[in-house]
Amino acid sequence: MTNAPEASPAPSSETVLRHIVMLSGGKDSTALALYLRQKYPQRRFEYLFCDTHKELPETYEYLARIEARLGCRVERLASRHGDRGFDHYLKIYRGFLPSPQARWCTRQLKIEPFERYVGDDPARLYVGLRADERRDGYISTKRNIQPVFPFREDGIERADVMRILEESGVGLPSYYEWRSRSGCYFCFFQQRGEWVRLKERYPELYEKAKQYEKQEQGYTWVQNESLSELEAPERQREILRREKERKERLAARRRPRTLAQTYGFSELDETDRDDGCLICHL
Ligand code: SF4
Repeated sequence: MTNAPEASPAPSSETVLRHIVMLSGGKDSTALALYLRQKYPQRRFEYLFCDTHKELPETYEYLARIEARLGCRVERLASRHGDRGFDHYLKIYRGFLPSPQARWCTRQLKIEPFERYVGDDPARLYVGLRADERRDGYISTKRNIQPVFPFREDGIERADVMRILEESGVGLPSYYEWRSRSGCYFCFFQQRGEWVRLKERYPELYEKAKQYEKQEQGYTWVQNESLSELEAPERQREILRREKERKERLAARRRPRTLAQTYGFSELDETDRDDGCLICHL
Protein backbone atom coordinates (compact mmCIF):
# COMPACT_ATOMS: atom_id res chain seq x y z
CA MET A 1 0.00 0.00 0.00
CA THR A 2 1.37 3.45 -0.87
CA ASN A 3 1.43 6.01 1.89
CA ALA A 4 0.11 9.50 1.17
CA PRO A 5 2.97 11.80 0.20
CA GLU A 6 4.28 13.93 3.01
CA ALA A 7 4.39 17.69 2.59
CA SER A 8 7.72 19.22 1.49
CA PRO A 9 9.62 20.78 4.36
CA ALA A 10 8.06 24.11 5.21
CA PRO A 11 10.09 27.19 4.27
CA SER A 12 12.18 28.14 7.24
CA SER A 13 12.22 31.59 8.74
CA GLU A 14 15.82 31.01 9.80
CA THR A 15 18.49 31.91 7.33
CA VAL A 16 19.37 28.33 6.49
CA LEU A 17 20.15 27.56 2.91
CA ARG A 18 17.14 26.12 1.09
CA HIS A 19 17.57 23.50 -1.61
CA ILE A 20 15.01 23.77 -4.34
CA VAL A 21 14.27 21.64 -7.37
CA MET A 22 11.76 23.13 -9.76
CA LEU A 23 9.95 20.48 -11.74
CA SER A 24 8.51 21.31 -15.13
CA GLY A 25 6.78 17.98 -15.74
CA GLY A 26 9.54 17.19 -18.24
CA LYS A 27 12.15 14.46 -18.19
CA ASP A 28 15.30 16.42 -17.26
CA SER A 29 14.01 18.15 -14.15
CA THR A 30 12.43 14.88 -13.04
CA ALA A 31 15.66 12.97 -13.51
CA LEU A 32 17.47 15.71 -11.62
CA ALA A 33 15.13 15.38 -8.63
CA LEU A 34 15.75 11.62 -8.56
CA TYR A 35 19.49 12.04 -9.06
CA LEU A 36 19.85 14.56 -6.25
CA ARG A 37 17.77 12.48 -3.89
CA GLN A 38 20.15 9.60 -4.43
CA LYS A 39 23.32 11.70 -4.36
CA TYR A 40 22.43 13.68 -1.23
CA PRO A 41 20.15 11.44 0.85
CA GLN A 42 20.55 13.67 3.91
CA ARG A 43 19.70 16.93 2.18
CA ARG A 44 16.18 18.31 2.53
CA PHE A 45 14.95 19.33 -0.89
CA GLU A 46 11.87 21.33 -1.69
CA TYR A 47 10.19 20.22 -4.91
CA LEU A 48 8.13 22.81 -6.72
CA PHE A 49 5.90 22.93 -9.72
CA CYS A 50 4.56 26.24 -11.04
CA ASP A 51 1.07 25.39 -12.19
CA THR A 52 -0.25 27.58 -15.00
CA HIS A 53 -3.56 25.65 -14.84
CA LYS A 54 -3.14 25.24 -18.59
CA GLU A 55 -1.01 22.12 -18.39
CA LEU A 56 -1.71 18.84 -20.12
CA PRO A 57 -3.55 16.11 -18.19
CA GLU A 58 -0.47 13.87 -18.62
CA THR A 59 1.65 16.37 -16.70
CA TYR A 60 -0.52 16.12 -13.60
CA GLU A 61 -0.45 12.34 -13.87
CA TYR A 62 3.36 12.44 -14.14
CA LEU A 63 3.67 14.66 -11.06
CA ALA A 64 1.70 12.10 -9.08
CA ARG A 65 4.12 9.42 -10.26
CA ILE A 66 7.10 11.55 -9.22
CA GLU A 67 5.59 12.18 -5.79
CA ALA A 68 5.01 8.49 -5.26
CA ARG A 69 8.64 7.75 -6.15
CA LEU A 70 10.13 10.57 -4.09
CA GLY A 71 7.75 9.87 -1.24
CA CYS A 72 7.02 13.53 -0.70
CA ARG A 73 4.78 16.22 -2.04
CA VAL A 74 5.61 18.46 -4.99
CA GLU A 75 4.42 21.90 -3.98
CA ARG A 76 2.13 23.45 -6.63
CA LEU A 77 2.69 27.17 -6.95
CA ALA A 78 0.12 29.29 -8.70
CA SER A 79 0.26 32.86 -9.90
CA ARG A 80 -1.24 35.54 -7.68
CA HIS A 81 -4.47 35.05 -9.59
CA GLY A 82 -4.72 31.28 -9.23
CA ASP A 83 -6.38 29.38 -12.03
CA ARG A 84 -7.40 32.65 -13.69
CA GLY A 85 -3.76 33.70 -13.86
CA PHE A 86 -3.22 33.39 -17.59
CA ASP A 87 -6.49 35.07 -18.51
CA HIS A 88 -5.91 37.83 -16.02
CA TYR A 89 -2.49 38.63 -17.46
CA LEU A 90 -3.76 38.34 -20.99
CA LYS A 91 -6.05 41.28 -20.22
CA ILE A 92 -3.18 43.23 -18.66
CA TYR A 93 -1.13 42.61 -21.81
CA ARG A 94 -4.10 43.88 -23.85
CA GLY A 95 -4.85 40.55 -25.47
CA PHE A 96 -1.32 40.16 -26.78
CA LEU A 97 -0.77 36.40 -26.85
CA PRO A 98 2.66 35.40 -25.56
CA SER A 99 5.23 34.28 -28.11
CA PRO A 100 8.91 33.28 -28.17
CA GLN A 101 9.75 36.99 -28.46
CA ALA A 102 7.30 38.18 -25.79
CA ARG A 103 7.25 35.49 -23.18
CA TRP A 104 5.30 37.24 -20.46
CA CYS A 105 3.65 33.93 -19.48
CA THR A 106 6.91 32.50 -18.17
CA ARG A 107 7.61 35.56 -16.09
CA GLN A 108 4.12 35.89 -14.64
CA LEU A 109 3.14 32.24 -14.26
CA LYS A 110 6.43 30.58 -13.49
CA ILE A 111 9.20 32.92 -12.38
CA GLU A 112 7.16 35.34 -10.29
CA PRO A 113 5.38 32.64 -8.21
CA PHE A 114 8.69 30.89 -7.69
CA GLU A 115 10.53 34.02 -6.56
CA ARG A 116 7.64 34.99 -4.32
CA TYR A 117 7.67 31.55 -2.73
CA VAL A 118 11.41 31.71 -2.01
CA GLY A 119 11.22 35.27 -0.71
CA ASP A 120 14.50 36.56 0.64
CA ASP A 121 15.80 33.26 2.00
CA PRO A 122 19.15 32.16 0.68
CA ALA A 123 18.38 29.33 -1.70
CA ARG A 124 20.07 27.05 -4.13
CA LEU A 125 18.02 26.34 -7.24
CA TYR A 126 19.01 23.08 -8.91
CA VAL A 127 18.57 23.27 -12.68
CA GLY A 128 18.37 20.22 -14.93
CA LEU A 129 20.41 21.52 -17.87
CA ARG A 130 22.41 18.60 -19.18
CA ALA A 131 26.08 18.42 -20.06
CA ASP A 132 25.20 17.80 -23.74
CA GLU A 133 22.92 20.83 -24.09
CA ARG A 134 23.74 24.19 -25.55
CA ARG A 135 20.87 25.99 -23.86
CA ASP A 136 21.40 28.88 -21.53
CA GLY A 137 18.82 31.08 -20.03
CA TYR A 138 17.33 33.20 -17.37
CA ILE A 139 16.77 31.58 -14.04
CA SER A 140 16.46 34.35 -11.50
CA THR A 141 17.76 37.82 -11.01
CA LYS A 142 17.36 37.60 -7.25
CA ARG A 143 20.72 37.61 -5.55
CA ASN A 144 19.61 35.25 -2.80
CA ILE A 145 18.83 32.52 -5.35
CA GLN A 146 21.89 30.75 -6.60
CA PRO A 147 21.37 28.53 -9.67
CA VAL A 148 23.41 25.33 -9.75
CA PHE A 149 23.74 22.84 -12.60
CA PRO A 150 24.54 19.38 -11.22
CA PHE A 151 24.12 17.58 -14.55
CA ARG A 152 26.61 19.87 -16.22
CA GLU A 153 29.02 19.59 -13.33
CA ASP A 154 28.77 15.79 -13.29
CA GLY A 155 28.75 15.29 -17.06
CA ILE A 156 25.21 13.87 -17.14
CA GLU A 157 23.92 13.63 -20.70
CA ARG A 158 20.64 12.64 -22.24
CA ALA A 159 21.32 8.91 -22.23
CA ASP A 160 22.08 9.14 -18.50
CA VAL A 161 18.80 10.95 -17.91
CA MET A 162 16.92 8.19 -19.71
CA ARG A 163 18.69 5.60 -17.59
CA ILE A 164 17.89 7.43 -14.33
CA LEU A 165 14.21 7.60 -15.28
CA GLU A 166 14.10 4.00 -16.39
CA GLU A 167 15.86 2.63 -13.32
CA SER A 168 13.69 4.63 -10.94
CA GLY A 169 10.54 3.24 -12.49
CA VAL A 170 9.21 6.75 -13.12
CA GLY A 171 9.87 6.58 -16.85
CA LEU A 172 8.85 9.30 -19.26
CA PRO A 173 5.72 11.40 -19.18
CA SER A 174 3.18 9.92 -21.56
CA TYR A 175 2.75 13.13 -23.58
CA TYR A 176 6.11 12.27 -25.16
CA GLU A 177 4.15 9.85 -27.32
CA TRP A 178 2.86 12.80 -29.27
CA ARG A 179 4.63 15.95 -28.12
CA SER A 180 8.25 16.83 -27.45
CA ARG A 181 7.87 19.14 -24.47
CA SER A 182 6.15 19.82 -21.20
CA GLY A 183 4.17 23.01 -20.72
CA CYS A 184 0.82 24.58 -21.45
CA TYR A 185 -1.47 22.92 -23.97
CA PHE A 186 -1.30 26.06 -26.10
CA CYS A 187 2.43 26.57 -25.79
CA PHE A 188 3.68 28.53 -28.80
CA PHE A 189 6.88 26.49 -28.79
CA GLN A 190 4.87 23.56 -30.13
CA GLN A 191 5.67 22.37 -33.59
CA ARG A 192 2.85 22.38 -36.12
CA GLY A 193 2.64 18.59 -36.07
CA GLU A 194 2.11 18.77 -32.33
CA TRP A 195 -0.82 21.12 -32.81
CA VAL A 196 -2.32 18.57 -35.20
CA ARG A 197 -1.95 15.86 -32.56
CA LEU A 198 -3.32 18.13 -29.83
CA LYS A 199 -6.46 18.42 -31.92
CA GLU A 200 -6.57 14.67 -32.34
CA ARG A 201 -6.02 13.83 -28.65
CA TYR A 202 -7.66 16.77 -26.93
CA PRO A 203 -10.09 18.42 -29.36
CA GLU A 204 -11.57 20.43 -26.48
CA LEU A 205 -8.16 21.93 -25.61
CA TYR A 206 -7.54 22.72 -29.26
CA GLU A 207 -10.89 24.52 -29.33
CA LYS A 208 -9.95 26.49 -26.23
CA ALA A 209 -6.65 27.51 -27.82
CA LYS A 210 -8.60 28.58 -30.91
CA GLN A 211 -10.94 30.65 -28.76
CA TYR A 212 -7.99 32.69 -27.52
CA GLU A 213 -7.14 33.57 -31.11
CA LYS A 214 -10.76 34.48 -31.88
CA GLN A 215 -11.06 36.56 -28.75
CA GLU A 216 -7.79 38.37 -29.51
CA GLN A 217 -8.32 39.19 -33.16
CA GLY A 218 -5.14 39.32 -35.17
CA TYR A 219 -2.98 37.27 -32.80
CA THR A 220 -2.11 33.67 -33.50
CA TRP A 221 -0.24 31.01 -31.53
CA VAL A 222 1.62 29.82 -34.61
CA GLN A 223 3.47 32.33 -36.73
CA ASN A 224 1.50 33.43 -39.79
CA GLU A 225 -1.20 30.81 -39.39
CA SER A 226 -4.34 30.63 -37.31
CA LEU A 227 -5.48 27.42 -35.67
CA SER A 228 -8.59 27.50 -37.87
CA GLU A 229 -6.35 27.42 -40.92
CA LEU A 230 -4.08 24.79 -39.43
CA GLU A 231 -6.93 22.38 -38.71
CA ALA A 232 -8.12 22.17 -42.32
CA PRO A 233 -7.76 18.45 -43.25
CA GLU A 234 -5.57 19.16 -46.26
CA ARG A 235 -3.28 21.40 -44.23
CA GLN A 236 -3.02 18.81 -41.45
CA ARG A 237 -1.98 16.18 -43.98
CA GLU A 238 0.65 18.50 -45.40
CA ILE A 239 2.04 19.29 -41.93
CA LEU A 240 2.32 15.63 -41.02
CA ARG A 241 3.90 14.77 -44.35
CA ARG A 242 6.55 17.47 -43.89
CA GLU A 243 7.18 16.39 -40.32
CA LYS A 244 7.70 12.80 -41.47
CA GLU A 245 10.16 13.93 -44.12
CA ARG A 246 12.05 16.00 -41.58
CA LYS A 247 12.27 13.07 -39.17
CA GLU A 248 13.53 10.81 -41.93
CA ARG A 249 16.22 13.35 -42.80
CA LEU A 250 17.22 13.56 -39.14
CA ALA A 251 17.24 9.78 -38.74
CA ALA A 252 19.50 9.43 -41.77
CA ARG A 253 21.98 11.84 -40.16
CA ARG A 254 21.94 10.07 -36.79
CA ARG A 255 24.20 7.36 -35.51
CA PRO A 256 22.67 3.87 -35.79
CA ARG A 257 20.71 3.66 -32.53
CA THR A 258 21.03 5.82 -29.47
CA LEU A 259 20.31 4.67 -25.95
CA ALA A 260 17.48 7.19 -25.86
CA GLN A 261 15.84 5.48 -28.81
CA THR A 262 16.38 2.13 -27.15
CA TYR A 263 14.39 3.45 -24.21
CA GLY A 264 11.62 4.38 -26.59
CA PHE A 265 12.00 8.15 -26.33
CA SER A 266 9.85 9.83 -28.90
CA GLU A 267 11.19 10.56 -32.34
CA LEU A 268 9.82 14.00 -31.68
CA ASP A 269 12.63 14.69 -29.27
CA GLU A 270 14.51 17.90 -28.93
CA THR A 271 17.61 16.75 -30.80
CA ASP A 272 19.25 19.60 -32.62
CA ARG A 273 16.97 22.13 -30.96
CA ASP A 274 18.15 24.56 -28.35
CA ASP A 275 15.14 26.86 -28.26
CA GLY A 276 12.30 26.52 -25.81
CA CYS A 277 11.91 27.79 -22.33
CA LEU A 278 14.42 27.01 -19.64
CA ILE A 279 11.78 27.14 -16.95
CA CYS A 280 8.90 25.36 -18.66
CA HIS A 281 10.70 22.75 -20.72
CA LEU A 282 13.25 20.95 -18.63
S1 SF4 B 1 4.73 26.38 -21.36
FE1 SF4 B 1 4.81 27.84 -23.05
S2 SF4 B 1 2.88 28.99 -22.90
FE2 SF4 B 1 3.17 27.95 -20.93
S3 SF4 B 1 4.19 29.43 -19.61
FE3 SF4 B 1 5.78 28.21 -20.59
S4 SF4 B 1 6.40 29.32 -22.46
FE4 SF4 B 1 4.41 30.13 -21.74
